[in-house]
Amino acid sequence: MKFARKIPLFLLGALSGLVVFRYVLLPAWITHRVQKVVAREWRTPLDTGKRADWDSLIVTRRGGFLADRTAYAHLRVHIHTGVDLQNRHRGGPGEPVYAVAKGKVHDVRIQAQGTRVTVRHLLANGEIVYTSYIHVGGVRARKGQWVDPATVIARRFDRDELKKYGQFYNHLHFQAHKARFVPEHTINTNTREEAKARFYDPKFIFNNHLQELEPDWRQWVRDGIIPFWRLVALLV
Ligand SMILES: [Zn+2]
Repeated sequence: MKFARKIPLFLLGALSGLVVFRYVLLPAWITHRVQKVVAREWRTPLDTGKRADWDSLIVTRRGGFLADRTAYAHLRVHIHTGVDLQNRHRGGPGEPVYAVAKGKVHDVRIQAQGTRVTVRHLLANGEIVYTSYIHVGGVRARKGQWVDPATVIARRFDRDELKKYGQFYNHLHFQAHKARFVPEHTINTNTREEAKARFYDPKFIFNNHLQELEPDWRQWVRDGIIPFWRLVALLV
């Protein structure tokens, strides 16, 4: 009899514990984490001496966003989905490559001249953007690592690597995927419309990342921008 009465009490305790966790502790933690990880400050991926200024970077002559790309090496004709960057300030082969904003390393792919690091960012309106850094060596970033603009994630190819892969790769390819990271889109985007649907103009997202907006995750969930449990997963 005594034992039987203890079971409902135990269930009640467990249930109220779950309710407190789901509706009090978890929301408080989400609010704290969102404030901490939203990508507010953006900085150039190369140390130009003026990292807050996108125009301190050099975009190579044929390396603009949406430029036509002729077939090269194993690549077919496609639209250039990012920008090819160089740096006149202390830059050059082997220079460090930084994350542009707070975020979590989403993917690291070591593949010769196509070696790539991708970072996932949460904007103040609940939008997700992925930045990719391609033609890099000496990758330091690890998948799952939280980074910020002070974090060196890799370096540009050094002189030996450029000798091996070709001077064509003497730049950092930088791009910003909208909402989803699909690596193949980098080489199979064939029209400007497709490119604009899949990628941000890097200069645009650098200058328009909603820094001034107060992140309101409850609104994101209500508006269906991010489902609740996906948001939780993004913040861990
Ligand atoms: Zn490029």
